[in-house]
Amino acid sequence: MNAKCFVRLIGHGVGLAVCLTVVSMAQASPWTEVDTATPGPAVAIGGPANGCIAGARALPATGTGFVSIRRHRKRYYGHPDTVRLVQYLGRALSKRTRELMMVGDLSQPRGGLMPSMHRSHQNGMDVDIWFRLAGSARSANSRYPEGRNPDGMVAPGGLALSRDWGRHQRFLLKTTADYPRVDRILVNPVIKRALCRSEKGNRRWLRKLRPWWGHDAHFHVRLKCPKGSPRCRQQSPLPTGDGCNRSLAWWFSKEARTPSKKPKKKTGSRMSTACKALLFKP
Ligand SMILES: [Zn+2]
Repeated sequence: MNAKCFVRLIGHGVGLAVCLTVVSMAQASPWTEVDTATPGPAVAIGGPANGCIAGARALPATGTGFVSIRRHRKRYYGHPDTVRLVQYLGRALSKRTRELMMVGDLSQPRGGLMPSMHRSHQNGMDVDIWFRLAGSARSANSRYPEGRNPDGMVAPGGLALSRDWGRHQRFLLKTTADYPRVDRILVNPVIKRALCRSEKGNRRWLRKLRPWWGHDAHFHVRLKCPKGSPRCRQQSPLPTGDGCNRSLAWWFSKEARTPSKKPKKKTGSRMSTACKALLFKP
């Protein structure tokens, strides 16, 4: 277990035991060593970047219209709301094409920190979905082993959509955004800008699309805190409007495109008592 525990003295000599998990890409997280979800009702605890989940459900390896890839990572667990969303999207897509939606990471069996660049996906309410579709479950798993990602949807130069972008990708984003339990969707700024320019009529769904670095090959869906999870921490509400404004233009400014301007990843966070108890539960 790669957690450093130490005692910090606070106030008038009151000892507080704090387990600080020091994170780096090379280091494992204690959550990775857990193979099973806890039984009982599903409860999301904490926020997406510092949380955990009790009673997580496993997303099946395949279902109507979808395939879950890279199962060896054990990141196919989530709150039932998240699993239901994936199944709903798969069914919706299957009415339009025989191709399959490829589902990436949800959360680990009890959530918690992942030993990678991922900071979120911790409380069972996040899921990554690849934009590219697969011909079959078998081809999805053989074509995209660990370390070989599906191609992105942004053309070289980073300013326009690639030729691979099409109606199925738009359909998946819109159907996800229209799903009431979805809080927000992270996409590359180029994708957001293209939709801001092309969408006519009701553009309200664009509000849930939030521009972020990367996310040109997959989109990241975050669901709202579920019912029955009083300790789930909801991210601050989205600004009003469709987001096709100056805040989007910033992503194409010199400032945003300078690598040093990217926010630095935090290198540690305090685990809540509830999550600590969940981690060590037999
Ligand atoms: Zn993600």
